Amino acid sequence: MSHHVGEHTLPELPYSYDALEPYIDEQTMRLHHDKHHQGYVDGLNSAEEELAEARESGNYDDIRSLERLVAFHGAGHFNHSIFWNNLTPAEEFEDPSGDLLDRLEHDFGSFENFKDQFTAAASSVEGSGWGMLVWEPGGNHLLTLGVENHQKQLFGTAIPILVIDVWEHAYYLKYQNRRGEYVENFWNIVDWENVAHNFEKARDYEFPVDNV
Ligand code: MN
Repeated sequence: MSHHVGEHTLPELPYSYDALEPYIDEQTMRLHHDKHHQGYVDGLNSAEEELAEARESGNYDDIRSLERLVAFHGAGHFNHSIFWNNLTPAEEFEDPSGDLLDRLEHDFGSFENFKDQFTAAASSVEGSGWGMLVWEPGGNHLLTLGVENHQKQLFGTAIPILVIDVWEHAYYLKYQNRRGEYVENFWNIVDWENVAHNFEKARDYEFPVDNV
């Protein structure tokens, strides 16, 4: 994962463009991955290069704008990278189990409660954004978040483990304005094994302050 400035690349999808049909259509996947996600990769690389030039010249007049671009395109790139891997063809779907399911039940009361809360958070994002399930190591618990754009209203310590893109580019061709239907259908193609893997990794992060 380590890289040099401006050398981020678009990851390949872990399945074919039509693999998520009928819930997410092939044309949307092609545009979303090849054009939109690529745009964030390019934007991040160019922001990093400009930031490197600022360091070289010692001219930080544009630092606020550059940091904003890094946050926007960087979060865009990494959120999409998590998103593709959170999904699986419906015929390979398996229910969540093990530690992740126990933790969802513990933190939300039941798995159904979790789904309802996540669905509500994702459906009610104002404008463009993401629904997220995050591990929040300060409070040592799972939370749902409705994040605007790619990076706003994101809890500072939160580690995303399951995300849904609710920008219109993610669903408009098939669902038009029916974001709620898109979010409901998302539950048919979640790769819970991937989410469990992300959960295990996130839990390894140790919050630096005890007893908060
Ligand atoms: Mn997107």
